[in-house]
Amino acid sequence: MNDENLSINVKIYDSFLKKIVLEPIEELVKRMVASQMPVSFEAEALKAQAIIARTFIVRNMQSFGGYGCSKYKNADLCTDGHCGNILSVEVLKKEWGDNFKKNWEKINCAVMETEGNIITINNKPIYTKFHATCGGATENSENVEGNKTVYLRKVLCDYCKDSPRYRNSMEISLKEIEKRLNIKTLKPSSVKGPVMEGIIEDIERDEEGRIISVKIGGKKLKGTEVMKLLGLSSTRGSYHEEHFIVSCSDKEFLIISTVNAPISI
Ligand SMILES: [Zn+2]
Ligand SMILES: [Zn+2]
Repeated sequence: MNDENLSINVKIYDSFLKKIVLEPIEELVKRMVASQMPVSFEAEALKAQAIIARTFIVRNMQSFGGYGCSKYKNADLCTDGHCGNILSVEVLKKEWGDNFKKNWEKINCAVMETEGNIITINNKPIYTKFHATCGGATENSENVEGNKTVYLRKVLCDYCKDSPRYRNSMEISLKEIEKRLNIKTLKPSSVKGPVMEGIIEDIERDEEGRIISVKIGGKKLKGTEVMKLLGLSSTRGSYHEEHFIVSCSDKEFLIISTVNAPISI
C-alpha cells in the first residue's frame, strides 16, 4: 500500500450505532492498537502491534478479497467483540482520563511510522496471531488449530521468563471442572488413600511440556480441549497436590490438588 491509504475505508459494523459505518484504515489501526496493547509498552512494540492490526484488517476486507465479518453481512469487521477488541475513542477517553492526549499521541506515532505496512506471504496478508508472553515456546499451528500454517511454527524462546505474565493462577472447584469437562470424578475419601487418585491420569506431553492429551475423571481429552473448556491460556502445565487450583501462564496450565485440604463438591 502507499499514500492512497488515506482513501481506504473499512466497513465497520458499529455495535453502538447498530449500523455499518466507514472508517479510514489508519484511524481503525489506532483504535485497535490502543485496545490490544497497554499504551505503556515500548514504542517499537506498539509499532509491531500496528502492523499486526493493519494486516488483520486488510485480510478481512472484502474489497481486498477477504471474507469480512462472519456475523454482520457486508461488514469487514464489527465492534461487538466478535472480531476482537476494538474500543471506541470515547471509551479510550474515559479509560485514560487526563492521559488521553499523551497516550493517543504515542499510539498515533506508532501507527504513522508504520503507515501502510502489513505482513504478507505470497502477496497475501498473513493470519496474524499474537501474544504478550509465549511461556517458553510458540506452538506449531496444527497442534493448536488443527491445520498447518507454514509461518505459525514452534520457536523456542528464552526471553519471556522474566515477564510478569509468565505464570499466573486461578482457582477452580472440582465441581466446576466436572461441569465444564462434562465428567464425573470419584468423591474424596479419607479412608481410601489419596482423594485425587483417578482424577488426572495419563498425561501425555510434547517436548516443551505442553499437554497433548490427559485423562480427567476417566475421560480422555486433548490438551487443547482442556485449555478451551477451562478457559486456560496454554496447554503447558503440571499439577501438584494442594487444593484444586488451575494455574496458568500465557502458554501453560497447571492443575494443583491436595489430599489434605477439604474439597467442596
Ligand atoms: Zn465480527
Ligand atoms: Zn517468548
